Amino acid sequence: MSAAAFSSVNPEHRPGRAPDDCIASRGRRALIRRVIVSVQPLAGFDKLLHYRVPESLRGAVTAGSLVRMPLGHRHAIGLVLETDALPDVAVEKIKPLTGLVQDHPALTADLLALAKWMASYYAARMSSVVEAMIPGAVRDGARLKQEKYLATARVLSAEELAALTRKAPKQAKLYEFLRQQFRPGKKSLVLQRLDATAAVVSALVKHGLVTEEARHVERVAYADGWSGGEVVTAAPPELNEEQAAVVRSVGESLERGKFAVHLLNGVTGSGKTEVYLRAVESVLAAGGSAIYLVPEVALTPQTVARLRGRFESAGHRTVVWHSHLSEGERLDGWAALASGAARVVVGARSAIFAPVQDLRLIVVDEEHEPAYKQDETPRYHGRDVAVYRAKLASAVCLLGSATPSLESVANAQAGKYRLERLTKRVDDRKLPTIQIVDMRIEVMRSRGLVTLSRLLVDHMHARFERREQTILFINRRGYSSSMQCRKCGHVEECPHCSVAMTYHRSDETLKCHLCGHERGAPVVCPACASPEIRWRGLGTQRVEEAVRRVLPRARLERMDADTMQKKHRFRQILGDFRAGKIDILIGTQMIGKGLDFPNVTLVGLIDADMSMHVPDFRANERTFQLLVQVAGRAGRGDRAGEVVVQTFTPQADAIQFAKKADFDGFSSGELTMRKNFGYPPYRHLIHHLFRGPNPEKIKFFADAWVKKVEATLGSAVEIRGPSPAPIEKVKDEYRFQVWYFTARTAQVVAELVKLESTFQWPDDVGQVLDVDPMSLV
Ligand code: ADP
Ligand code: ZN
Ligand code: ZN
Repeated sequence: MSAAAFSSVNPEHRPGRAPDDCIASRGRRALIRRVIVSVQPLAGFDKLLHYRVPESLRGAVTAGSLVRMPLGHRHAIGLVLETDALPDVAVEKIKPLTGLVQDHPALTADLLALAKWMASYYAARMSSVVEAMIPGAVRDGARLKQEKYLATARVLSAEELAALTRKAPKQAKLYEFLRQQFRPGKKSLVLQRLDATAAVVSALVKHGLVTEEARHVERVAYADGWSGGEVVTAAPPELNEEQAAVVRSVGESLERGKFAVHLLNGVTGSGKTEVYLRAVESVLAAGGSAIYLVPEVALTPQTVARLRGRFESAGHRTVVWHSHLSEGERLDGWAALASGAARVVVGARSAIFAPVQDLRLIVVDEEHEPAYKQDETPRYHGRDVAVYRAKLASAVCLLGSATPSLESVANAQAGKYRLERLTKRVDDRKLPTIQIVDMRIEVMRSRGLVTLSRLLVDHMHARFERREQTILFINRRGYSSSMQCRKCGHVEECPHCSVAMTYHRSDETLKCHLCGHERGAPVVCPACASPEIRWRGLGTQRVEEAVRRVLPRARLERMDADTMQKKHRFRQILGDFRAGKIDILIGTQMIGKGLDFPNVTLVGLIDADMSMHVPDFRANERTFQLLVQVAGRAGRGDRAGEVVVQTFTPQADAIQFAKKADFDGFSSGELTMRKNFGYPPYRHLIHHLFRGPNPEKIKFFADAWVKKVEATLGSAVEIRGPSPAPIEKVKDEYRFQVWYFTARTAQVVAELVKLESTFQWPDDVGQVLDVDPMSLV
């Protein structure tokens, strides 16, 4: 990676002047301008270029069009940023475009503006932003061949069919064949199989008995089975008063037709999804388009099935955008949205770039989820981009969660977002009761390592006898290395940063990766002098073994990283669990997303501490969110749910507030802490990573760089570091990092980019800038 990793940000269009000595009169110049476009080439080439629009493409090329053009000795694809451009070279030298990739512009006007904002805000190359926005399948879409598909358009009565058989036996045969298919049939195959001619099809189409549609693949995305065997066409429930009030409030914003953000804070099971559905339905009914974001499509099969069931039964084609789509499916979905044939898309983060027409509403479900942040260039946050796109499109953004991010809470407090609440579960169902188990006592009792507390085991037994189901969650975060005393629960924290220190095994030290403060790792607990101090780790396998020991007859299933990779396995397990073929499901918190299993009456969280003592100022927030979300999986049916939380630090705020389901109590205390330390949401955070083969060299240049930034930016930014990154070495590359705290992100990012281009970086020091990082470990 070269030093220019974040160098050329938004390639600025330098408006050059047409040469004065040119014979061009004013009129001629205007004419030239109209046929010259500025194009952003894709595939890593980061410079804006000018091209002429040939006669044959005039009128068809607009800003946002994907075009083909010569670039050096090869052919390339690019995105038209501006029509009407002023070239900075002689017009005669400008080459013509050679073609248009697709009829509809790949980016709408609001998306073009969004791309420019993202490039500058996230210090990313314009080409990488455009590539993130436009799927690969669309970028080189013309490669894929289209196929025609046939399906019956209506059901013929027995008499009609008999009449057709008499009059036109070949048509009748083809009709009957199609009638028996579950899916539309590929035209070429159908004709071959029945030895029919295209004229037979034309006749059927003409009489309205058969439809013919051009597609890129056999299977359309929205027809695949994300439903997991669930009935999704149930009639919509009647809204309760709280829900109706939120729908009304969002409806008013939609009617006003201006930018607005609503933050829906509703307890788990309070019917938030129903509110989103109503909002989307009203937009569709009014002829507008909507984007519905979920943290991860593959992990929210139920939600996706519910949405699709509702929208499609109302006659709205729904595009589901997820990572398992084939190229053809992607292309078809994209084309349907760009052409307006589909006006609603459900998908993860990248669905925010869907080229929908007349965007009126963006829903961001589980808006607090870190999964919305992309961890490769461009490192954008899907929720923040959603808010910005809504602003550009004068649309309404509806953010929702049982545990909103503190960023969003602060925005609501500042009056930027409108706060809506759902305080009760639907149908007066109770929130589950949370019992906290002090694992220090458990360890003392059993004189050794304990995976399952006595209380949890008792509850599991009772559930098993009653044939009710249990989910055991393992905290996935924090497998890294904080140090915790087994006796008193003490965790060493940095005196300057209020985050847990990281244990470095290689040299037996504890380091703060925010400020670099370090000390030798203690051999006994600094708080109680117990020698039982160690770093922690607990896996799904160990929990499975423990459960088998205490409940040998129970049917168990484990879902971890391996299971998640096979999508069918994942869905199969969820299906079996729903069908009652599994008694106890063990997995990380990711399996809990949006799942709604009425027979689950017990949820156990094996190690609540894991997310709390990671060296991240969001550790408490994450722990609170985890507890509330995980608890929310219990008691969704008629029976009340119980939750058992195992922890070595039962007194921690995150745990105590979660027990009381007190979001306001938790957030106000946590926000005060953030304010005192100047952490987000009160200032923005920018992470700057330096990496390379030579640690001394990186350190030397990082030090020099920091001095230069200090001298240039002064009080606009507070700098911490450079210090070794928490993972000091990755693939033989050493890593150092610098943190910038600032209230003026846009200005600081721009300045950093400018400075970076004048700084003499050696070739073997690479860097990455991450604006508003979501994970500090
Ligand atoms: P949340 O998204 O807040 O967790 P959901 O929208 O998933 O809650 O609602 C939980 C369950 O309650 C779902 O099965 C949903 O169909 C049902 N539900 C939602 N609103 C109502 C209502 N007003 N009356 C009855 N059931 C409802
Ligand atoms: Zn101790
Ligand atoms: Zn520190």
